Amino acid sequence: MSKAAPLPPGATIGILGGGQLGRLLSQAAASLGFRTHILCPDEKSPAGEVASDWTRADYTDAAAVKTFVSSVDVVTYEFENVPVACADLVIEAGGLLRPGKRALEVAQDRLTEKRFCKDLGIETAPFMPVANAEAASFALNVTGIPAIMKTRRLGYDGKGQQVIHEESEAATAWRSLQGAPGIMEGFVPFEREISVILARSELGVVTYDSPENVHKDGILRVSSVPGNINTDIQAEAKEVATRIAEELDYIGVLAVEFFVEKSGLLRVNEMAPRVHNSGHWTSDACYMGQFEAHIRAICGWPFGSTARHSDARMENLIGEEAANWSAFAAQDKARLTLYGKKQMRPGRKMGHVTYLSDRKDS
Ligand code: AMP
Repeated sequence: MSKAAPLPPGATIGILGGGQLGRLLSQAAASLGFRTHILCPDEKSPAGEVASDWTRADYTDAAAVKTFVSSVDVVTYEFENVPVACADLVIEAGGLLRPGKRALEVAQDRLTEKRFCKDLGIETAPFMPVANAEAASFALNVTGIPAIMKTRRLGYDGKGQQVIHEESEAATAWRSLQGAPGIMEGFVPFEREISVILARSELGVVTYDSPENVHKDGILRVSSVPGNINTDIQAEAKEVATRIAEELDYIGVLAVEFFVEKSGLLRVNEMAPRVHNSGHWTSDACYMGQFEAHIRAICGWPFGSTARHSDARMENLIGEEAANWSAFAAQDKARLTLYGKKQMRPGRKMGHVTYLSDRKDS
């Protein structure tokens, strides 16, 4: 792999997407002397408010993407549902897209993602694509019951998912997808959920300690480090995530979510080709946080240390929970991050708080 010269401070990083991840990436970029330019279609954007520039345009607006690309030195993305057509426009305009297009293609479709893992010999939940009501019932022969019917695309935070407890529910679950292509997944009887957050660049791969994650109603609520994860399992999870990153020739931060069964068997749930909610604690508890790691990777800078100097418990602030901001702000050793979103809608991620404590294992 030939190594390109690192981008110097003062260069501009283009970010596709205007959410909180783009905001936190922009802040990390600014800390290293970079400028950022956001492209997103939304009228209001948490990222646009803190970036150096903001283009409000659709991701497939060819003229806008071309102008955007000509104003930046590297292009990255902060969510995995950036249309692949947008990645094509960036590449056609001569933009350097990091991570690349393949990571988007794989992560956008649960079926492609599971087949990708299968080809690498990586375990996932048993699965079956579903294109009609009959296929939904049939798929249960492969997945077993209980199972989960999901949309292949555009599902996140548990959206577009139905748990099936008996065969008669399969057709109704299929209809609830309203014609969208589906995938049936066996329900994994996991003991816990963990994730691997890694950063890969032309200079190598670094990983963080794996958090243990608790979800409620499909939404991440808490990430704790250290988790209750034995060292062999953690090492295996890191090895699997690294294999995925190598296969994708990945540049940037990659998150891989796993189910851990009682037997110790690891199954990949999904991957996110971006900085990840379960890695937010790294900005507070590690020498180099995930946002900085991503910026360093895509700009060709050497990595700092991913070592954890504190134990951490990150809690998401969802909807009205963020109204308590002053109580969180008043707590000693609680690091509060708010995303600048004006409306507190139910289920909306408004911010997070990381509770820090001294490392118990050092
Ligand atoms: P997802 O959006 O697919 O990551 O799902 C959100 C959460 O739902 C996961 O983190 C799990 O807690 C749960 N979940 C999703 N798929 C499965 C599965 N196949 N088996 C058990 N739990 C699941």
